Amino acid sequence: MKIGFIGLGNMGAPMAANLAKAGHLVVGFDMASVSVEGVVMAGSSAEAASDADVVITMLPNGEILRAVADDIIPVMQAGAGFVDCSTVDVESARAVANQAQTVGLLPVDAPVSGGIGGAAAGTLTFMAGGSEAAFAQAAPLFDIMGQKAVHCGESGAGQAAKICNNMILGVTMIATCEAFALADKLGLDRQKMFDVVSTSSGYSWTMNAYCPAPGVGPQSPSDNDYKPGFAAELMLKDLRLSQQAAESVDADTPMGYIATNLYEQFVENENGMGMDFSAMLPRYEKRNRS
Ligand code: NAD
Repeated sequence: MKIGFIGLGNMGAPMAANLAKAGHLVVGFDMASVSVEGVVMAGSSAEAASDADVVITMLPNGEILRAVADDIIPVMQAGAGFVDCSTVDVESARAVANQAQTVGLLPVDAPVSGGIGGAAAGTLTFMAGGSEAAFAQAAPLFDIMGQKAVHCGESGAGQAAKICNNMILGVTMIATCEAFALADKLGLDRQKMFDVVSTSSGYSWTMNAYCPAPGVGPQSPSDNDYKPGFAAELMLKDLRLSQQAAESVDADTPMGYIATNLYEQFVENENGMGMDFSAMLPRYEKRNRS
């Protein structure tokens, strides 16, 4: 396949490299001057997209996705796939999909979980929204870049799944961190707390697989001075998207709302920027009730 790949940052570069390694012709473009092993660089996003069987985008946000879509959709051939793997608002995902469908393209919104490590190892999980035909066309590429792809429904369903998952993740991380800080003040040993909770009804991915307490549980960013991992500002981005989506459909999400405010405070006023999102634990350690 000839694949156009637009947005070769932390995530896009290793994903594109894996596609090239699997034998596809990958033509890439990024605003920044980058080079990626096995990827032929183009001079513009339109150049990367023209003649492509599938174009993949991995961009920072919905506004940039819409701008890139305006550039590439007019030069793409009918029947080609347009797979957006960025995390963006549901509304932008649906608008771009409509625009692509109108000219006979096969759009899929396919945000990922698994982070930079998963992108490099080819073990991402894709959550996809689009028609059966569009998903079927993209599926072999998901198999190369990831270990699992779930077809969640029509356009926008992939983004909906992503932000619902990450709203749970943000809320759960905060709950896990505040429980550790409470346990400290009650004189409960952190290892004992882990031993109990990880095998009791309070267990969760944030406790069992990504424990925010250094030296406790499996290796995680807390064991590496809270270097990301999954940065707090990316958690904040996803929480904000969850609240934007909740507002658009009038859904009551009080815990998501509070988590958004707490990560906003942490990132914008408490030096949380650039820290892993589990660094909420040292934040709570320092705090009192008021
Ligand atoms: P990044 O900032 O490293 O990469 C984005 C790239 O897009 C940059 O290289 C930038 O130069 C490029 N870009 C911006 N505007 C462009 C344009 N108009 N044309 C071409 N290129 C352009 O970000 P990332 O960490 O790779 O994340 C990409 C997406 O994946 C985001 O939507 C993010 O929310 C999502 N995501 C990231 C992670 C993670 O752990 N980093 C995990 C899951 C999902």
